[in-house]
Amino acid sequence: MRRFDAVVIGGGPAGLTAAMYLLRSEVSVALVEKLSPGGQILMTERIDNYPGFPEGIAAWELADLMAAHVAKWENDRFARLCDEVRSIEPGERLHRVLVGDEWIEAKTVIICSGARYRQMGIPGEKELIGKGVSYCALCDGNFFRGQDVAVIGGGNSALEESLYLARLVNKLYLIHRRDDFRASKCYQDKCEINSKMEILRSTVVSKIVGEKEVTAVTVKDLKTGTERDVAVSGVFVFVGFEPHSGFLPGELEKDAQGFVKTDGEMRTNIPGIYAAGDIRSKNCRQVATAVGDGATAATAVISYLESYDK
Ligand code: NAP
Repeated sequence: MRRFDAVVIGGGPAGLTAAMYLLRSEVSVALVEKLSPGGQILMTERIDNYPGFPEGIAAWELADLMAAHVAKWENDRFARLCDEVRSIEPGERLHRVLVGDEWIEAKTVIICSGARYRQMGIPGEKELIGKGVSYCALCDGNFFRGQDVAVIGGGNSALEESLYLARLVNKLYLIHRRDDFRASKCYQDKCEINSKMEILRSTVVSKIVGEKEVTAVTVKDLKTGTERDVAVSGVFVFVGFEPHSGFLPGELEKDAQGFVKTDGEMRTNIPGIYAAGDIRSKNCRQVATAVGDGATAATAVISYLESYDK
């Protein structure tokens, strides 16, 4: 069985940062990522709040730069495993991680498996995924060039992705269940003045309508109680995140939403197992905080390994 000092699960900003820090300290590392490096940021077009890039940077470019930074420190004890982690079995001294069909052993594990967009669970949503319902503006926005679409949600994702989509579509209905947005003020200001957007506040979508493809959303104005159909051919849902946590052991402490609880050093309740980035229970999910988590976790792992054999 292959054995590593550290297994980093996930190749987003947290995992890439953790791997880079560990490699610089000559720790043997397996970095497991089932898709391309970058993680959740590859779902967006640009990152405009990562320090050092005052004009913003294309998300794919930032992901490439982070991956290149890991590659720079690669050594012959580094393994990049392009597969899915299916299970973690915590142990006293060594933890076992099932990557695809291979069990590997590790003194430490850093979980950076991130989060994915949540579904709403309304009628029509599941049935019309890929037929007009989408969770990725960058991936699917092009299909709706010149058409009318709806975006559901009031957080940073909904407003940031609306601003991207508005450049492509004919008209965009931004539908939020409250009057106040959760998103940063800078996104709110830009959406308010965008001529392609109509903002429907205190409005819920109760149904996505369509047989073979989306034709409308049924919306209800919560103040007046009025219900009506708004004709659209695309619906983008950005109503929050859920953790990528299906493979995590039951004894790992999580919050009510399933995000992993850690202390300030990114330690979980299981010695030798750490969590960093969006998978962690916290309020602020940004590239900058994921990078900070990754660096903190790697530093804690390095000091754990120093006392491992003492
Ligand atoms: P979020 O901040 O949790 O916002 C989710 C939004 O969806 C909220 O406005 C919420 O409404 C609404 N919502 C939730 N359930 C709903 C339902 N069943 N029906 C209708 N609306 C519903 O999620 P997010 O926007 O995906 O962001 C996740 C994290 O990533 C946040 O920490 C965010 O700051 C971060 N992020 C940052 C950036 C950036 O800095 N550029 C970009 C994207 C994401 P209520 O407000 O009423 O609860």
